[in-house]
Amino acid sequence: MQDKVLELAIRRGFIYPSYEIYGGVGGFYDYAPLGAILKKKIEDKWRKIFCIEEGFYEIHCPTIAPEEVFIASGHVKNFVDPLVTCENCRESFRADHLIEESMNISASNMSYEEMSKLVKQISCPNCGKKAFGDVYSYNLMFKTAIGPGGKRTGYLRPETAQNIFILFNRLYEFSRKKLPFGITQIGKAYRNEISPRQGLIRLREFTQAELEYFFDPRNESIDRFKLYENEKLRLLTRENKEFEITAKEAVEKGILINEIFGYFLALTKRFLVEVGIDEKRIRFRQHLKEELAHYARDCWDAEVFTERYGYIEVVGIADRGDYDLKAHERHSNVEMKAFVSYEKPVTIKMKVFELNLKEIGKTFRKKAKEIIKELENADEKLIEEFEKKGFVKVCNEVLDSRFLKVKEVEKKVHGEKVVPHVIEPSFGIDRILYCVLESAYRERNGKKILSFKPDIAPISVAVFPLVSKDELKDIALELLRKIRARGIYAIYDEKDSIGRRYARVDEIGVPFAITVDFDTLKDSTVTVRFRDTTEQVRISTAEVVDVVEELVNGKIKFEELKMKK
Ligand code: AMP
Repeated sequence: MQDKVLELAIRRGFIYPSYEIYGGVGGFYDYAPLGAILKKKIEDKWRKIFCIEEGFYEIHCPTIAPEEVFIASGHVKNFVDPLVTCENCRESFRADHLIEESMNISASNMSYEEMSKLVKQISCPNCGKKAFGDVYSYNLMFKTAIGPGGKRTGYLRPETAQNIFILFNRLYEFSRKKLPFGITQIGKAYRNEISPRQGLIRLREFTQAELEYFFDPRNESIDRFKLYENEKLRLLTRENKEFEITAKEAVEKGILINEIFGYFLALTKRFLVEVGIDEKRIRFRQHLKEELAHYARDCWDAEVFTERYGYIEVVGIADRGDYDLKAHERHSNVEMKAFVSYEKPVTIKMKVFELNLKEIGKTFRKKAKEIIKELENADEKLIEEFEKKGFVKVCNEVLDSRFLKVKEVEKKVHGEKVVPHVIEPSFGIDRILYCVLESAYRERNGKKILSFKPDIAPISVAVFPLVSKDELKDIALELLRKIRARGIYAIYDEKDSIGRRYARVDEIGVPFAITVDFDTLKDSTVTVRFRDTTEQVRISTAEVVDVVEELVNGKIKFEELKMKK
């Protein structure tokens, strides 16, 4: 199945293997003319739902980042796979996968030493020799140098998310210092995958659409959940139980840890269905504990059933907790917190320094002002230190009980600073595009059809003169011009019989075809044909552009149009 879909996708200009004239490079694909439009339409649908309707803003950031970013995020240390190389043919494999496939045992919890012992007993799948070396850690990030002389190490980002975490303070300010808020980014991510042999499923350069939702960890409810709580979700839990349940029930029963997960799972399903993936093929699988990424507290993958590979992960919805903000706070020394107001101010008892201003002034003279400021703003740690040692060191001066003592006061506080938590839905656009292609693929009387949804099809309308005669061509070309002027992708074709032309556009998934025939000259009507049923209706040339626009936008269905006429 996948081969047929890929064959069609390559032959008809959706995707091309990259760098073909130089023998090709695994893990890279070009989006050909039709694929580029399809990808854009999928991304725009994502934008419509996640940015416009839900009110989350999109940003765009560089794809190269200095090494500090990924040291802080943990990717330099943890974004690794166990690799083993055959010393005979130099081919490399993922050690855990090799062990699992050849010995049929799970290697996910094994140490590198344990794996090293086992791989020595396995013959290389490439050359057949038993010549594997030790298992080593392979980082999936592409490394580069920023600027001449290699002074600064950089990496191509392995996910778009880090850009958003780094910008937290600015984005928090943009969001008028209120939690919750969400920020999205659609852009390229890079992973130097070990053996990318699965078409669009495993790429070394791919597009992610990610959303970072920042919220107060003490309030895990979300108002908009009400809109989606009745959405039915097929879940496969960590305990290997698969069932269908509404988002609301899943939250109430504690299967999903909070409403935010329920909301994002439901929204994800809605998006996948709207781009044309059959809802029966969609399920959400909870990660096993040992599978969780280094930053994740819990994670549910949206998986789509494909004919060739079975279920594949297309979206990861992860609870990243406060992992990333805390990590960047630690490494950059920049505070990354939000101020959360209490409903009512609360009175708390706290310790402060009572200062002997006269003595401080007399002893420290010019420096006194600076010392007083530090002591007035002293934090708990400094006060504790004074209580323990009987003195504190401030502005390089030692101050003991002659200058200060500790007293307890009551203070009204209006809120507190918290490190927001983050839940992140992360979509792989290329995998979704493959699933859209596979879902759309049909065969009818030996002919291939891509049955895309009308608003997702790369080309929405085809315009044909029945035969290549000037009087028909002129009308067809004028209609083509008008349709394109509405921002609708349309094509024109006058070559070969009308049947062959219909077949050609069915194969690239054009939902509607307008044909100008000899009756058009008599009564100013044209036919509009629907790809999926091959049914036709006659519409006046004056109306047809409006009608086609409504059909393409899904405002009216072809069957409804047929009934009306
Ligand atoms: P992850 O950060 O690994 O959860 O990835 C998020 C999403 O990106 C996944 O659900 C995939 O859809 C997509 N993705 C990850 N790795 C690749 C890859 N090598 N090629 C294509 N898509 C990928």
